[in-house]
Amino acid sequence: MSITLPINIDSVKGFLAADEGEALYQYALTASKLGPCLEIGSYCGKSTVYLGTACKENNRTLFALDHHRGSEEHQLGEEYHDPDLYDTSIELMDSFKTFRTTMRLADLDDTVVPIVSSSLIASRDWATPLGMVFIDGGHSEEAAQTDYRSWSSFIKPGGILAIHDIFPNPEDGGQAPYNIWKLAKASGLFEELPTVNTLGLFRRL
Ligand code: MG
Repeated sequence: MSITLPINIDSVKGFLAADEGEALYQYALTASKLGPCLEIGSYCGKSTVYLGTACKENNRTLFALDHHRGSEEHQLGEEYHDPDLYDTSIELMDSFKTFRTTMRLADLDDTVVPIVSSSLIASRDWATPLGMVFIDGGHSEEAAQTDYRSWSSFIKPGGILAIHDIFPNPEDGGQAPYNIWKLAKASGLFEELPTVNTLGLFRRL
C-alpha cells in the first residue's frame, strides 16, 4: 500500500477493496482543497477512514451520511446481515456505534461530521458546495437514483463524483449503481475518469 492509514484498515468491517480505498484517498486529497467532501453510506467507516484521512491533511470536513439502519442486503435474513450490528432490543440494524469506534480509533473525530439520516432528508435543506461526493448508499434503483439526484448537483467544478459497485455485466452484481454511473456519463456535466476495480469516477466540468 502506498498510503499510511491511522488504523489497520482490514480490522474495519466493510466491502471496499484496498485499490478502491486508495483511489478514494488520492482523489479526496486533491478534491478536499476545493471544498468539504461527503460520502453516502458509511456503514462501519471503512471508506470514511480513507476519505477522512485525506480531508484531514487539508483541514477539511468530511460529512459521513448514513441512517445506520443498514441497506437492503444487511437486514435480518439477507445475504450480508451481520448479527454484531443488529440491535435485538429494537429489532433494527445499528452500525453507528461501530462507526463511532472506528472514527475514534482513526483519530478522525475532528474531521468527520456524521449525519445520521436518510439521504433524501439530509439533502432537503443542504446548500453547501462540495469538493467530492462518494455514493455507496442503498443499491435499490430508487435509493441509488435518489442519491445521485440529491447530491451530484452540489459538486463544484473540478470536484469528484465517485460511485461504488459498478458492474457493467449484470451477472457480476446489481445494476442500480451502474445505472446512475450511466446517467452521470450521459449528463454532459462530467469528464469520465478511469474506473478503479468497481469504483466509477468522474470529474465535474
Ligand atoms: Mg459498496
